[in-house]
Amino acid sequence: MPTSYVMKAITKVLMTWLQTTIHALVDADQTGFLSGHHISENIVYAADLLRCCHSRKAPTLVFKIDFRKAFDSEGGFSIKDLHRQNRATVVDGRSTSFWMDKWLPGEPLATRFPALFSHGTRRHASVATVVSQGLGLQTRLTAAAESELLVIRRFIDGTSLRGGPDRRAIDSPSTPRFSSREAYRALSPVHPVDTTARLTWPLRIPTKVKIFAYLVDIDRLSTRVNLFYKSCAPSDICAACTSPETGRHLFFDCPVSTAIWGQLDVPIPAGSFSIWDLPAPPPSPSGAWHFGVAAILWSIWKSRNDLVFNRVTHSTTSTLRKVCDDLTLWRWRLRPADRTSLDGLRAFLLARAVA
Ligand SMILES: [Zn+2]
Repeated sequence: MPTSYVMKAITKVLMTWLQTTIHALVDADQTGFLSGHHISENIVYAADLLRCCHSRKAPTLVFKIDFRKAFDSEGGFSIKDLHRQNRATVVDGRSTSFWMDKWLPGEPLATRFPALFSHGTRRHASVATVVSQGLGLQTRLTAAAESELLVIRRFIDGTSLRGGPDRRAIDSPSTPRFSSREAYRALSPVHPVDTTARLTWPLRIPTKVKIFAYLVDIDRLSTRVNLFYKSCAPSDICAACTSPETGRHLFFDCPVSTAIWGQLDVPIPAGSFSIWDLPAPPPSPSGAWHFGVAAILWSIWKSRNDLVFNRVTHSTTSTLRKVCDDLTLWRWRLRPADRTSLDGLRAFLLARAVA
């Protein structure tokens, strides 16, 4: 009998034996590698738990952990980091850990008084418990612990509790109220300003066009080159010519789009550039130009999709007319003061569409 058959037989015997005893070895909530258990049960379990907390209005903290980021890569931050950013203001002392939380100036008492902490028998006691029932210490203390005890006793004597829940804040000079957003800000490194996002999201264009424009600017649109790279398209060649369909090609270098920009006398910068850096044509009002850029790119994209999926070709004139139609539809989104500028741009585009 080949060796592999023997190994398989032994493995099968061990597996069968393990399945009869594994329930006593692992937690009931574990679902991985257990016959009859499915990992999807955890999703239902978590949803039930959240609904229960919500309906009971129970104060709840939920952590969604990305296992890849938590264990397989550098970066991110741990629960320990989150705790380190947290400062408590004691009111009734019931939800503040006497030793572990920062509730007095400086570091937690466990860090400041390690000798006494090592003699503690109630290391997770709340401030309220310590004030009412004492520290809970081993009977014999070292000299270092004795001297630390004198200081700690002064802290306990100086602590007055009153009605009301303890409060949490971020441990920073501005001490904003604790929230996941503020904690993330406090723990995250400073990122450079995302100019694309800053210019795209405030535009008063339809949301789907904003997302589209953002994807164009960061080159994440489903162009053929991007799809081909992900093995989602049979070819990376443009539907209108023989060049690879990158974002730059589709919107600025393809003969179809070159004709449109040429008709508007908009010079296309060399190399990579942000769509929001496209220069406005001299006679058009520049106030609504970003609005116009989004509409032109959107029309080029829709014309391209018509060609790819319906084999319908659009002329420069029809694409520019569609731009004007979109601007008419989106006009009401602008503040009344900005509408005049948009009307000027639309008149300019309309004139060039029939030129
Ligand atoms: Zn092309």
